[in-house]
Amino acid sequence: MTGEGAGREEALLEIAERVSDIMEKACKKCRIIIAQGEVCPICGSSDLTNKWSGYITVINVEKSEIAKKLSIKVNGRYAVSINS
Ligand SMILES: [Zn+2]
Repeated sequence: MTGEGAGREEALLEIAERVSDIMEKACKKCRIIIAQGEVCPICGSSDLTNKWSGYITVINVEKSEIAKKLSIKVNGRYAVSINS
């Protein structure tokens, strides 16, 4: 009963794969994933899509290089690719 392998340091972000039958929508402008509603809470856009795949969870936007590359300024979940 050892817990080997469970002590991995938590990364600043988490990458996960998603399949296409997604209920949640992503904002086409800032990529944030929106669980509910029709308007992006960050940029106010109503240009949302459910055609996105892959997401990252940014939990420390100030230290995340990927957040900088994606111009992410607020912690949250963001779609990696959006098929517009
Ligand atoms: Zn937005």
